Amino acid sequence: MLLALKPFNFLEVTVGSTVGVSLRYLLFAGVAWLLGYLFFKRSWFHRKIIAKFPKAQDVWREIGYSALSILIFGLVGAATLYAVRQGWTQKYAKMGQFGMLWFWLSIGCAVVIHDAWFYWTHRLMHHRKLFRWFHRVHHLSHNPTPWAAYAFSPLEALVQALIFPLLLIIIPMHLYAFGLFMLWQITFNIAGHTGYEFHPRWFMRTPLKYIMNTPTNHIMHHEKMRGNYGLYFNYWDRLMGTNHEEYETRFGEVTSREKTEISKSPSTPVG
Ligand SMILES: [Zn+2]
Ligand SMILES: [Zn+2]
Repeated sequence: MLLALKPFNFLEVTVGSTVGVSLRYLLFAGVAWLLGYLFFKRSWFHRKIIAKFPKAQDVWREIGYSALSILIFGLVGAATLYAVRQGWTQKYAKMGQFGMLWFWLSIGCAVVIHDAWFYWTHRLMHHRKLFRWFHRVHHLSHNPTPWAAYAFSPLEALVQALIFPLLLIIIPMHLYAFGLFMLWQITFNIAGHTGYEFHPRWFMRTPLKYIMNTPTNHIMHHEKMRGNYGLYFNYWDRLMGTNHEEYETRFGEVTSREKTEISKSPSTPVG
C-alpha cells in the first residue's frame, strides 16, 4: 500500500526503465553476438544466410541507433508503468483472477496481435512517403547482425514500442505473462537478425512453413528491401502474396550447404 502512495517520479522511473531495457538488450544481443560472430563463426558459417560478415563500421552504426532506440523504449516503458498505476490498462495482479488457461492464452493473443501490428505497420513504413522518416535507418543494414534488432530511427522506435502499452490496454495480462511475452519477442527478434538459419531443411516441406517465419525470411528482407514483411509468423505474407519469390529456394540453398564446403574459406569476418 505504501508503494501505491509514493508519488510517481517520471524521471526516476524512466531512468530505471531505460537501464532495464539496456541490460536486457546487452544480454540477448551480446550472447547472440558472442555465439555467432566469435565462438562459432567458423563452425556455423555454412548456415550464415549471407555468406560474409559486415564491416565493423556497420556494426557500430547498428549499436549507435540501438542506443537511441533504447532511450525511446525507456520513455515508453515509464509511460506504460504510469498507465498501469493509473488503472488505464488491464494488467492484473492475482494469478488466479482469470485462471491458468487465460494466463497462457493471453501470451498467445499478445504474440498474434504483435505479429499483425508488426506486419501492417512495417508495410506502411515501406510506403515511399513514410520510408525515409520511419524505416530507412533499419534498412541501412543489408547484412544485419544481432545489434540491428533495435537499429531504428526514433520514429520507428516509437511505432515498435507503442504495441506494448497497447497490448496491456487491449487484453488482461498478468505481469508474469507479459514478462514471458517480452522474453519471446526479444529472443525472436534477435534470432531473426543474427543471420543464421537454424531451422532444419525439412521445415519447408511441412505445413509449418505456412505458419512460422524463419531467419532466412527476414535476412532476405534486409538484403532485397522488398517482400517478407512478417515477424513471428509467415501467414500474413502468404495471405497478402508478399513473400519474396525466391524465399523457399533460398531457404533450401542455405540449409543444404555442406558444413566443410564453406567453413574452409570464411570471407573477411569482423573482429
Ligand atoms: Zn522493412
Ligand atoms: Zn530487421
